[in-house]
Amino acid sequence: MTAVYAGSFDPVTNGHLDIIRRAALFCDRLIVGLLINPFKKSMFTAEERVGHLKMATAGIPNVEVLFFSGFLSDFVRANSADIIIRGLRSSVVPEYELQMVLGRPDIETVFMFSRPEYMYLSSTLVKEVILGGGSIDAMVPECLIPVIRQIRRNADGIDHGLS
Ligand code: ADP
Repeated sequence: MTAVYAGSFDPVTNGHLDIIRRAALFCDRLIVGLLINPFKKSMFTAEERVGHLKMATAGIPNVEVLFFSGFLSDFVRANSADIIIRGLRSSVVPEYELQMVLGRPDIETVFMFSRPEYMYLSSTLVKEVILGGGSIDAMVPECLIPVIRQIRRNADGIDHGLS
């Protein structure tokens, strides 16, 4: 069985990685799809985000990282995937997740609950902490901590006090 787990991963968090690890256990092949949305402002470039995902998933042999733009259903079909994996952060299924499922009656969507420790973790929170000069050490995969710090310094020349 081939599954797709899609998102913007700006940047990838420990919550995302936990879903990837757990989904990879029951899929033959797990494609992590980085959605490129030119209308959405991002902190990290698509190349950086794919690089982060590849580093974070390097030890999981059945995980592949790919870019895509446009509709998720087209990406799923183009890769002959059987299911879509979505992560849930709270016990309430958000309206937009339901709309996505209703829009694709031919493809099964599997929702996986976040572990309690990652319930409140999001890429938005990580970005806010970066901009506020706080520590992201518990929020992003360990191998990415120095990379993310470096990128922020290169981008604006300001040391956000993360070292
Ligand atoms: P975010 O919502 O953090 O900006 P994405 O849009 O890249 O991230 O999310 C990709 C997928 O991962 C979505 O299905 C989203 O619900 C899920 N997800 C994000 N953060 C978590 C988390 N902490 N625990 C479980 N699932 C998550």
